[in-house]
Parts: sequence; structure tokens; C-alpha cells
Amino acid sequence: MDARDIEAEPGTVYLVGSGPGDPGLLTVRAKALLEDADVILHDRLPGPKIIGMLPDERCEYVGKHAQGERTTQSEINDRLVEYARDGKKVVRLKGGDSFVFGRGGEEAEYLANHGVPFEVVPGVTSAIAAPAVVGIPVTHRDHASSVSFVTGHEDPTKDESAVDWESLAEAGGTIVVLMGVKRLPDYTAALREAGMSSETPVALVERGTWPEQQVATGTLETIVEARDEVGIRPPAVTVIGDVAATRESVLDALENEYAPVADGRRGDGDD
Ligand code: SAH
Repeated sequence: MDARDIEAEPGTVYLVGSGPGDPGLLTVRAKALLEDADVILHDRLPGPKIIGMLPDERCEYVGKHAQGERTTQSEINDRLVEYARDGKKVVRLKGGDSFVFGRGGEEAEYLANHGVPFEVVPGVTSAIAAPAVVGIPVTHRDHASSVSFVTGHEDPTKDESAVDWESLAEAGGTIVVLMGVKRLPDYTAALREAGMSSETPVALVERGTWPEQQVATGTLETIVEARDEVGIRPPAVTVIGDVAATRESVLDALENEYAPVADGRRGDGDD
């Protein structure tokens, strides 16, 4: 199949996941729709390479601005509806997959409630891809038979915290935390308090598949220090569980352009 065979319908909104950032991990459908769209609403999460490919004149930035203000979700929803009602082919481009911590669900509901035709174009989520490209499988027959994707954005000591760290600690599967760089000390402490071993392997993968990719590894006890040593900054995923250590056994044999990125070193072959 050829990407050029796929055309966008006027008056339709496409909720498109961009994948983690490498343009090679866009789906064929995502690429075709980006080429065909009249207007593309996006933030920074698709990463510099994909954003660099987009035609400026058809792009509208709806992320956070330097001053810290951001376009609100309700403004974005309204714009999607307006553009579609104007007969435009609209792409709402999100990092990873729109339905994994991407507010794609809210956008879909809004469009449905307003009678606007839309399509969901799944993307490769960073929750799986960022660990994968550095050699970490989120499940493994010998190490983990379940995986949970959780937000690290919330304060784990808050009574009404939506994430039940205690149950996660007991469940024994892999935990992948998104939006969890800042609160790493809080939820690693919560997991240890809930009985998870301090020796549990942990890896942080920042900007997976971007040119600036970085990795920090350690244990529940040491990962905060490793984060600071390497200088991990958002966006990054945290992988907690035995699979985080399998990286070491496959790293030397891994063949992809991301593999040479060792802990703390920048990616572009500059060692
Ligand atoms: N919908 C996105 C997630 C959005 S929430 C997806 O499916 O990937 C934003 C969080 O995603 C970030 O805080 C970070 O935890 C994660 N993230 C997104 N892109 C990433 C990347 N390239 N590398 C590592 N983490 C990433």
C-alpha cells in the first residue's frame, strides 16, 4: 500500500498519534494524513524531527508557551469543531498514542457530542517504545507477565491520589510511569513503603528516539541519584521492575540507531 492512496476527508478530524518522535515510527496512515491535512494542531511532544517535517503554513501550535500559558483543552476542542465545520481536513497530532495520557478520549467525546466526524489513528506509544529502543521489553516470559501504565504527575501522599501505588507494588508486574520525572522521589518511596524491594531495577528513558535521547539506570533506592547525575529531564518514562535490568543482557547485541546511547551520553555517536 502506498501512503499516497490515503486521503483525508474534508470536514473530518483525525486524532493522530505521532509515535515517540522518530519519523520512521509514524504510521503510514499518519504520514499520509499529515501530508494531506489543511490544518495540523500540535504541541511539542511529537519531537523536533517530526515537527520539523510539518509545513509551517498549515500548522497551529497549541502547546505551552514560553511564558507558561497554554492553550486550554476547551479552546482546542472548539477549534477542532470550527475547522471541521469550515470543511477543513483537520489533524490533531499527539505524541505517542492519543489515547494514552493524551486527552484523545476527551477530544473524541467532544467531537462526537458536536456531531463532527472523526477518526482515531493509533500511534506507537512512548510507554512501550521508549523502553523498547534501549532494550527493555515491558513484558518478558521470565520477568513480568503484566504491565501497568500510570501517571507520575500526582502527589502519591495525597489521599485522593488516583494511582494506587500500594496495589501496584503488590501486583508484581512492570510499572511504566509517564510524566514522572519530578515526582520520582515520591513514588519510589511510596513503592518501597508498600513493600517493594529497594533492589528492584529501574530505568529512566528520556526523549526516546529523539536525537537527545538519554538513559539512567539504577534501583528503587538509587534511581533518584542516577536521574540527577545523568540530568534526566521531561519527557521521560520510568520503567520499574525486573525487565529494567534485561537491558544489560541485550544492549551489546542491539542493532538500531538508538542502541549506542549509553547511560548519560548523548546520542549522536560522539564518544
Ligand atoms: N500520548 C503519549 C503520552 C503523553 S503524556 C504517548 O502515548 O506516548 C506525556 C508523557 O509521555 C511524558 O511526560 C513522558 O513520560 C512520555 N513521553 C512522551 N514521549 C516520550 C519520549 N519520546 N520518550 C520518553 N517519554 C516520552
